[in-house]
Amino acid sequence: MEKRLFALTLALILGSVFLVHLGRDNETGRTLIRNASMVLTMDSALGTLEDADVLIEGDHVASVGKGMSAAGAKVIDGKGKIVMPGFVDLHTHLWQSLIRGCATDKELNGWLNGCVLPLRGSPVDGTDAYAGTRLSTLDSISTGVTTVTDWSHAFNPDFARGNLRALTDSKQRFVFAFMASADSWVAPEVRRVKKDVIDRSPLAHLMIGTHPASWNVADVEAAEKLSEELDVPLNVHLLESKADPATDQMGVLRRAGALRPGLLANHVVHATDAELDELAAHDVRIAHNPLSNMRLASGVARVPDMKARNLRVGLGLDGGTNDTSDMFNDMRAAVGLQRAQSADPARYPTPADVLRMATLGGAEALGLEKQIGSLTPGKKADLQVIDAQALNFAPKVDWTSQLVFNTQPVNVQWVFVNGVALKKNGRAVGDTERVIADAQAAADRVRKYLDR
Ligand SMILES: [Zn+2]
Repeated sequence: MEKRLFALTLALILGSVFLVHLGRDNETGRTLIRNASMVLTMDSALGTLEDADVLIEGDHVASVGKGMSAAGAKVIDGKGKIVMPGFVDLHTHLWQSLIRGCATDKELNGWLNGCVLPLRGSPVDGTDAYAGTRLSTLDSISTGVTTVTDWSHAFNPDFARGNLRALTDSKQRFVFAFMASADSWVAPEVRRVKKDVIDRSPLAHLMIGTHPASWNVADVEAAEKLSEELDVPLNVHLLESKADPATDQMGVLRRAGALRPGLLANHVVHATDAELDELAAHDVRIAHNPLSNMRLASGVARVPDMKARNLRVGLGLDGGTNDTSDMFNDMRAAVGLQRAQSADPARYPTPADVLRMATLGGAEALGLEKQIGSLTPGKKADLQVIDAQALNFAPKVDWTSQLVFNTQPVNVQWVFVNGVALKKNGRAVGDTERVIADAQAAADRVRKYLDR
């Protein structure tokens, strides 16, 4: 009898421990952001709501509206706060935090030759790639980025694996653009990565990176072949610097059969009318990277002319080249560059336009608009909560414009990806100190190699 009593007691204790544990998990499974002063849904049917709730259930937005029940939910007080979709950074190179501050007085090719290309064939490895990417993901999550398109130079298999491991560990949604060449290790490795990592993760997507140029035809053809075989888009730097048109980038893409819907072209600064027409005719998507274009003296992309052709354009940060992961800064630059060039304050894009480009526009460019980019119930819960009661943001006048002109990453209080909080109460989740120390060690190794 005593034994049975003991067993029963033990079962009760274990059961309650299990229930407490379940309860903890449930806390992250259902979150109500209550009475948010503004909910910028980016969904044209829902519009922008005031004093509204956003309910997250599991990995998705369950509902957006007023007076929702908080039963069983963790509650975040939304008073004085703005809820909006997380940003889609449409183009970046996350490992490049390791070369921050490198060749800051050079244009694209000077910077590439000083900081990036020498690393081909160098001992830079998976540990380095992991450290740089991990730092960048934490930084980027802090500024409200929930999806990144990470164009990896994949200098060697170990580098590519470290890069990808850091992306996976970040819990950010990502597109891994694997730079493919005709080298014999590449195609088998990319196939393996797709099967073993990408296809198994709800957060991961794959693209094939390449660089179209008259001196790189074999690699472009190999990349295009792999892109078709795996049915994933190609991702290229196109007409970025004033030196690029001379390398016949458009001709190389055309002859390889790569100008087709879904192709993601980064920059497209030095395009002619006919080239923009051709890109639009093939439904090519464009990543506009204003901060990078400014830093590398690349020029000003013809964003209003892209808009006139209904090209799908999103915003990118372009990695360490622009020295920051701040999407608010990037949006300001996207507006400011056009205004400065045209001396016309009504010039496209407006603040409302760049907010769309940085969210739903990026999702559309990736073909992910059914999953992310707006706070539409049923879509994945990728969103951010911004404190509008800060010295740099208050008072309330025109919050849509203030989001673009006033916001700093420090105002981002909460970031959710797939329903999981990756920034809580203003702090990125993770061992920030260790991540910084590891990135410093890796940056020192890279620096030593570049300076040799
Ligand atoms: Zn780039």
